[in-house]
Amino acid sequence: MTKYELKRTLLDVFFPNRCPVCNKVIGRMDYICKECGEEFEYSYTAQKFCTGRLLCVCRYDDKSSRIVLGAKRNRDGSKLSFMAYTLMKCITQHYDTLPDVLVPVPMYSSDKRKKGYSHTEKICAELSELTGIPVVKAVEKIRRTKEQKSLKRKDRLDNLKGSFALSDAKALSGKHILVVDDVSTTGATLEEVFRTLLPSECDAVDFAVFARTVNKNDKNKENA
Ligand SMILES: [Zn+2]
Repeated sequence: MTKYELKRTLLDVFFPNRCPVCNKVIGRMDYICKECGEEFEYSYTAQKFCTGRLLCVCRYDDKSSRIVLGAKRNRDGSKLSFMAYTLMKCITQHYDTLPDVLVPVPMYSSDKRKKGYSHTEKICAELSELTGIPVVKAVEKIRRTKEQKSLKRKDRLDNLKGSFALSDAKALSGKHILVVDDVSTTGATLEEVFRTLLPSECDAVDFAVFARTVNKNDKNKENA
């Protein structure tokens, strides 16, 4: 049994593993129940973004939003695991040589303290266990920004300008970076993180998100 399997087995004793969509109890090494798995629409797309690519597991829809919002509001291990596992599938399908480091899109420190965790860091930690790619928390969020959902694209970019800082440029020098986030709507957050990473003299920057909002008028959008 691998260390990862052992962790899932132990966790399952205290918090029975559940389907991230319908909440039914599932096997300790499963990620989704059979019925929801058959209905879930994986897209596993890769599109050009900034100077690299943006990989995406699925569209932000009724089912995937339940997973995203659940993981964001409560520390729901089954939902976080599902996102990490499907991101691993997406990433390993796409690359012959995996990126060197995972960089989570950060939360503002006092927001993280208040919540007790960062869902993106949790996803990255598990994604790292699954892929062997180390996590480098090289970007910090240095000020709180307005809720993005009420803002237009240009205002989103202004709202985010200068809100991130590079805290560990050395760790990224010459590296192929994969920036990871749960959701992308307009891509404004990812663009700002990209700008923040540039002085690190990294080799390449790609992005991976669990869900991407496709319809601009989607009422469910909650992130940039
Ligand atoms: Zn289910």
